[in-house]
Amino acid sequence: MSGWTILYGIINFLILAGALFLIGRKMVAKMIASRRERIENDLRRSEEARVNAVRLREDLTHSGERREAQAEEIRRETEAQLEELRSEGRAKDRETKENVDNLTRRTVEQQMLETRRALTDEVSTVMTEAAAEKLRREADPAELRTLDERFLRRLEAELAPTGADLARLLEDSGLKAVLSAGREPDEATLSRVIELLRQRFGVESVQLEIQVEPALIGGMKLKVGDTVYDGTLSHMLETVRRSFTEGDSLEGDVVDGALKRLPEIGLDVDVFQTGRVSSLSDGICRVTGLSDVMAGEMIRFKGDLRGMVMDLDRNNVGVVLLGNYDNVQEGDEVFRTGRIIEVPVGEALIGRVVDALGRPVDGKGLIHATETRPVENRAPGVIERKSVSVPMQTGIKAIDALVPIGRGQRELIIGDRQTGKTAIALDTIINQKGKDMICIYVAVGQKESTVASVVEKLRSHGAMDYSIVVCANASEPAPMLYIAPYVGAAMGEYFMHQGKDVLIVYDDLSKQAVAYREISLLLHRPPGREAYPGDVFYLHSRLLERAARLAPEYGGGSMTALPIIETQAGDISAYIPTNVISITDGQIFLETDLFNAGVRPAINVGLSVSRVGGAAQLGAMKQVAGRLRMDLAQYRELAAFSQFGSDLDKATQATLHRGDRMTELLKQGQYAPMDAADQVIVLFAANEGYADDVELKDVAAFERDLIRCVRHAMPELDDEIMTGKKLSPETLQRLRDCIADFKKQQR
Ligand code: ATP
Ligand code: MG
Repeated sequence: MSGWTILYGIINFLILAGALFLIGRKMVAKMIASRRERIENDLRRSEEARVNAVRLREDLTHSGERREAQAEEIRRETEAQLEELRSEGRAKDRETKENVDNLTRRTVEQQMLETRRALTDEVSTVMTEAAAEKLRREADPAELRTLDERFLRRLEAELAPTGADLARLLEDSGLKAVLSAGREPDEATLSRVIELLRQRFGVESVQLEIQVEPALIGGMKLKVGDTVYDGTLSHMLETVRRSFTEGDSLEGDVVDGALKRLPEIGLDVDVFQTGRVSSLSDGICRVTGLSDVMAGEMIRFKGDLRGMVMDLDRNNVGVVLLGNYDNVQEGDEVFRTGRIIEVPVGEALIGRVVDALGRPVDGKGLIHATETRPVENRAPGVIERKSVSVPMQTGIKAIDALVPIGRGQRELIIGDRQTGKTAIALDTIINQKGKDMICIYVAVGQKESTVASVVEKLRSHGAMDYSIVVCANASEPAPMLYIAPYVGAAMGEYFMHQGKDVLIVYDDLSKQAVAYREISLLLHRPPGREAYPGDVFYLHSRLLERAARLAPEYGGGSMTALPIIETQAGDISAYIPTNVISITDGQIFLETDLFNAGVRPAINVGLSVSRVGGAAQLGAMKQVAGRLRMDLAQYRELAAFSQFGSDLDKATQATLHRGDRMTELLKQGQYAPMDAADQVIVLFAANEGYADDVELKDVAAFERDLIRCVRHAMPELDDEIMTGKKLSPETLQRLRDCIADFKKQQR
């Protein structure tokens, strides 16, 4: 082998080796580069992960802190709420205890008063009997003669025939009279009496019957026709005894009290007319005699019982008995009082609960009223009246906005049973706090427990400070139910004529009508439609006419009446409802369906109207409520119509949507009357569409927060609204801005 071959081999080897080296290096370089890249990637990722981890840790720490803060806040809120609940509970406990204490105290007081009355009765009877006995034994004859002389002189002054006596004289030929005395009268006295009778009655012959009754002790008594001229000692003693038992204060000694009162008692010849009970049935009695009695006059029976003359017949009079008539018998003597039935009135009654004759039933002792007023009274005439122009805020949104009531107006509350009629009246009374209004709540034919809870509610809301409650409960005789509303009206009129504003609630007049029907049927008056007597319209019209706003020169006061009528199955076209609707200035119609659907107060906006209240509505309220009625009417129509279809256009949907919110806004809880300013804020916001995006369930919260926010931002709004003027465009704009701000905050 030559050298060239070897060289050639070496060169080949070198070339191959070089090529291999080059290829290998490239491959290695590539490999290294890719590995480095991978490592760098890994490094970057790990760095990122580390940063993320750090961030995550930070986040974790922060959220932990936040959660802790939240937990702390929730804990604090819960504790505050718990504390509130606890203190509320304590307050309730205290209140219950106070109520129980008051109740016990009142019961004890009542018991003591009753015992004392019984004791006084007994003591005074014993005292008068002892005095009578002593007088019978020891009376000085000279003094008895003076008594006779005094009687004769009084007879000369007083003796006169009444109309009925003269009528009787025309029928009979002679005059009959009875002279009773404790001892045989002497000739001179007899001839004086006969001469007097002949002279005064213008008759020739007089038949004078003489009765000697030792029980009369001394003095004389002459009875001509139904009139009695009583100057006997026994009658004077009886007068003394009766006046002793009239007081019932818990102070002082019984005998002392009686003696102290002695000088106040007029002991003179008493002139009165009497009659006799001829028949008696279910609280109505017929009385003969009493020939000069007036319709509506109060009649005295023995004991405490009073009656009222309802029927004047030729031979007898029909008297309704006002109270427990268990002791009345046929043949009993009754006495005229000469006065139309009247009740105590005045400031002393405020804060009290009284029965239909103005007697206290709350166990708080005597009412020291200085004045009385006839129960039946003429209503103010046209000249004395002024039109309604001052609002009477009920504090209920739906009423103040849609059926506004003015002072002096008569607005009927009508609806089925359990629809919240009483609730509206009570809320209205509670809302009068600080508004210089005297409220009278007349409960007719209700359960005693219902009346007690009403009084308790009024008391706990501080409303008894300016209220009077007159109650004739279901257990009382029909005549009491019949006169109770008139009694309330008489009490209200007293204040009205003094220039004060009065609100009177008659709860309810359907029961009064039923009581009147009962009396009328018992008096044999012919029954008319639904068996009511023909004058049942007059029963309510003469009562409600007494509500008025007086002109300033006649006192300037007002009496606003809220009569209540209960309907049967929503039938407002029955006899009594139509009557009262036609007498009043509008009605608030409550519906069972709405009440059950949770719309409370359950006012049917379509059927409720106020015919005169618009003139008295606050300007600001008028501004915001004007559209409300239209909107609601439209809503109701569409709502009824849309029940049948599903595809509704945009405008209809919007109306329904707004209407739903309006209805929700008009709902209001019991015992939570609202200020006029609050009502204006809420209704304004709803009108302007600010409530449109609020969920139905959040409406109540929205309302509450909105009022708080606006009140805070615009404290002057209240005064501006209460001026009664319309809100200026600037105020409206500020209100709008304020509500818009509130909405922004909410988001
Ligand atoms: P009645 O026919 O027995 O006299 P009424 O029509 O006077 O009944 P209320 O006694 O006022 O009705 O109310 C009936 C019930 O409804 C009561 O239990 C009362 O608490 C409740 N109620 C009335 N108004 C509201 C209201 N706005 N919100 C909640 N509950 C109410
Ligand atoms: Mg009621």
